[in-house]
Amino acid sequence: MQKAVLMMNYLKVTQTANNNFSHKGACALDLGGKDTGIDSLKAPFTGVIKKIYTKDANEVWLESVDKVKYADGTEDYMTILTMHDNDVSNLKVGQVIKQGEIYYDEGTKGNATGNHIHLTVGKGKFTGTGWYKKPIWSMVYK
Ligand SMILES: [Zn+2]
Repeated sequence: MQKAVLMMNYLKVTQTANNNFSHKGACALDLGGKDTGIDSLKAPFTGVIKKIYTKDANEVWLESVDKVKYADGTEDYMTILTMHDNDVSNLKVGQVIKQGEIYYDEGTKGNATGNHIHLTVGKGKFTGTGWYKKPIWSMVYK
């Protein structure tokens, strides 16, 4: 079983969850990278792309193909939502991304003031529209 690991070469959290800026009411992190260019995200697990939404921030949902091990020791499917890559034409729904493979870049598409990746992690498989608000915007289904 794969361990789900956040895979950026340089980890810099520029905004935390449910704060008083743009993440108010959102369970999300902003990942700023090195700030010297465009950093990339490697897939934290082998997953399949379930949805791509290009009308806002080039949102991409990646769901693990098998259950993964979480940091707290639990095991379940994992779905992550990423935003702001300026160009997702390299991705399509149904595409399988292997753990460690670079697939998503920092960018400014949508409501972003500087290059970063907005990340939300959900426990479980992709369901519905991929958007949930209970009690705050997140992807935690369970
Ligand atoms: Zn954000």
